[in-house]
Amino acid sequence: MCLIAVPLFSVDNPFALPLGTIVIDAGHGGHDPGAIRSFEGSLIVERELTLDIALRLERLLNEAHPSLNVVMTRRDDRFLTLEERGRIAYQTVLPPKTSALLLSIHINSAEHPAAQGFEVFTKLKEKEVPILDSTTPKEHIALFSKHNKKELNILLFDEARKVATVVSSALVKGLPMQVNRGIKELDLWVLNAARMPAVLVEAGFLSNDKELALLLDPQYRQTIALALFHAIEALLST
Ligand SMILES: [Zn+2]
Repeated sequence: MCLIAVPLFSVDNPFALPLGTIVIDAGHGGHDPGAIRSFEGSLIVERELTLDIALRLERLLNEAHPSLNVVMTRRDDRFLTLEERGRIAYQTVLPPKTSALLLSIHINSAEHPAAQGFEVFTKLKEKEVPILDSTTPKEHIALFSKHNKKELNILLFDEARKVATVVSSALVKGLPMQVNRGIKELDLWVLNAARMPAVLVEAGFLSNDKELALLLDPQYRQTIALALFHAIEALLST
C-alpha cells in the first residue's frame, strides 16, 4: 500500500489567489489635512476629497459585489498613523484561498500650478518588507510559509506592479482628458506596511486650477471612483 502525503492546501503564489478582499485607504484625516488650497474664501482639503472618493468606491463595490470583503481604513474624518493603516490591511484575516489588495487614495499638490494629471505608485522593487513575523495572523502562516522572505517580496512586487498597471489603464480610460503621469515606485510607509499588493493613486492636483474645479464637482469624484471600481472589476476577473 502506498501512502502519499498530499498537502491539504499548497500555494505557489499567495498574492495571485482570487481577489477576495479590498482595503480602501482614504489618505490623511483628522488633524492631518493632506494638501490644502484656499479657493473662493473656503479651504479645500485633501482629506475630505479622498474620503469622498473612497466612500463612493466602497458603495460601488458593495452594490456590485456583495460577497467581496471591502475594508475601509477610515469611514469618517479621523486621524490614523501610516502604521495603523498598514496594520489594518495586514491584520485583516483573509477568507481561505483568497488574496487581498490595498488601494490608497490621495490628491496631489505641487508648487508649480501647471503640474497636473494622475499617477500610480507601488513600493520600491528592492525594498524587502517582512511578511511573516510574530504579528502575522495565524490563519496566514500556511499561506506564506512555503516561500522565504526574498521570494515573497519578489512575488509581492510583481503582483503590485500588475495591479498598478490595471489601475493606471482604468484611469486612462475613465479620465481620458487628464494627463497620465505613469506608474512609479516610491518608498512609502503605507505601501510597505500593507504586506499585500498595494498601490497609491494620486488622482489629480489641488494646485492646478483646472483639476481643482473638476475635483470640487461630485460627478467628477464619482468618475474617479468608477475608474477605480472598473480596475478592481478587471482584477476580480483575472
Ligand atoms: Zn496625500
